[in-house]
Amino acid sequence: MFETIVALATPPMRSALAIVRLSGDDVFEVISKMFSRDITKTIKSTIYHGFILDGDDKVDEVVLLAYKGPKSFTGEDSVEIMTHGSPLIFNKVINLAIKNGARMAVRGEFSSRSYLHNKMDLLQAESINDLINAESEESKKKSMMALTGEVSNLIIPIKKSLGDLLSLIEVNINYPEYTDIEEADYKKIVDVSNENIKYISSLIKSGKKGKIIKDGINVAIVGKPNVGKSSILNALLNEEKAIVTNIKGTTRDVVEGKMILNGIVINLFDTAGIRESNDMIESKGIIKSEETLKKADLVLVVFDSTTLDDEDKKVLDLVKDRLHIIVYNKSDLISKKDSKLLFVSALNKDIEPLKAKIIEVLGLSKEDYDNPSINNAREIGLLENIVENLKLAISDSKNNVPIDLINVHIQDAYLKVLALLGEDHDFDIANEIFSRFCLGK
Ligand code: GDP
Repeated sequence: MFETIVALATPPMRSALAIVRLSGDDVFEVISKMFSRDITKTIKSTIYHGFILDGDDKVDEVVLLAYKGPKSFTGEDSVEIMTHGSPLIFNKVINLAIKNGARMAVRGEFSSRSYLHNKMDLLQAESINDLINAESEESKKKSMMALTGEVSNLIIPIKKSLGDLLSLIEVNINYPEYTDIEEADYKKIVDVSNENIKYISSLIKSGKKGKIIKDGINVAIVGKPNVGKSSILNALLNEEKAIVTNIKGTTRDVVEGKMILNGIVINLFDTAGIRESNDMIESKGIIKSEETLKKADLVLVVFDSTTLDDEDKKVLDLVKDRLHIIVYNKSDLISKKDSKLLFVSALNKDIEPLKAKIIEVLGLSKEDYDNPSINNAREIGLLENIVENLKLAISDSKNNVPIDLINVHIQDAYLKVLALLGEDHDFDIANEIFSRFCLGK
């Protein structure tokens, strides 16, 4: 039994129209209690016109789309009511629905219903959120590939290959009397595992790049006070976001900004100069800078081209193990420039070489933008776990560990594949075997 849920599908603000969405087993009954027409006999998706009623009062004249499940987004009977876009009206419609038996939907509940009714797998369901939150055209395109199932298709070959191997091992262990079935020997396990590791590793690699395109990156700007960090932030953003002064320690808090470079959302964080400070507020800023540094995917280390000293080296030491770019600012003040170094002048907004360098270090190719990839952290984590299990299966095979023990790793890997697709809740090993072999015939 799926309760009828209701939510506003459009932004909660005044507009020409608003959409109130409902879904659930008795949605047509709920609506018929608050609509000028009885829609309980709807047998195929229909558009109705009529009035939302509160008793005898007409609340609004609406167009209503009734979808007969399973041919709906959620897979259930569902309704979208197009009301006039006044908060008074759409709130009233939602309240009426609740009064007549619906309940408020929780976040993502329409999508999770869709997943529960097998309208989509977990990878697709997850992509809806990404799609809504996409901040660039490229990011939207990536999420769309997941929504349309192109990303799920990347997982299907792993599911098939590991499922076959798992079944073969199980049959060999549990049904030794079936002599006409291929033997699950160490070589077979090693070969299949190696093939999958190779394939999954390529998915992880393209997935990490896909994640950059989908989610963007955090970039921290660090350096001694007065080297021009705030000026660089402003020049990159092309606006006066951070206060620029020649008094050391002006940037006491972390200043943020966002820009889009080649479709990648770059979240920029200017930090208070990293150095010892007796000033309480500035010290706090410095602690915050260190936190910012931790969550940065890329660090811009800024030096003043006119003066380099030991403090600069200390800053560099802090980030030497991180992906970083060294930026020599204030190039307008010097005449001799080493062509191997990256010079910019934030003052003159001469910053293009830095933008080009950021793109270069991210190392994204056309394929990274155009091809579907496994993009989110949960999914990449599961892929890494599958690889670990397969590596264990290989090393165990090489050490002649009994096959039923090696099988534990294969099972674990297979479960993770199912978890990727959101199919792990009804995993039944017997079903897996029987779906592949006609045992018990
Ligand atoms: P921060 O403390 O590292 O954030 O440095 P600021 O951005 O506040 O800049 C410190 C001083 O350096 C200011 O007076 C800026 O005008 C100056 N400055 C910043 N960038 C440049 C540059 O490219 N050339 C020159 N000549 N001065 C700059």
